[in-house]
Amino acid sequence: MVILAFLFGSILIFLNHKLNSGEEKKEEILKRLPGYNCGACGYGSCAGMVEAILKDKEAYQKCRPMRKEAKEEIEKYLKEKNL
Ligand code: SF4
Repeated sequence: MVILAFLFGSILIFLNHKLNSGEEKKEEILKRLPGYNCGACGYGSCAGMVEAILKDKEAYQKCRPMRKEAKEEIEKYLKEKNL
């Protein structure tokens, strides 16, 4: 019984970590975007752009109002996180 509780607890901790790290990455990418939610990228909003970046790391190039410095920061973050 104790072993089962330990295994179940370990699985819950692992899943919680996986889910939270995904959300953390989304938030980190989102805060590096301009935040205009203008839809000029074709993804509807900055949150849509985050989802696109997670599928294709080059998607950020489609953000038209993004300044050069912000692009460099996103590139650096994606490289650091190996995305
Ligand atoms: S173009 Fe840039 S600022 Fe506009 S919604 Fe897309 S990611 Fe956001």
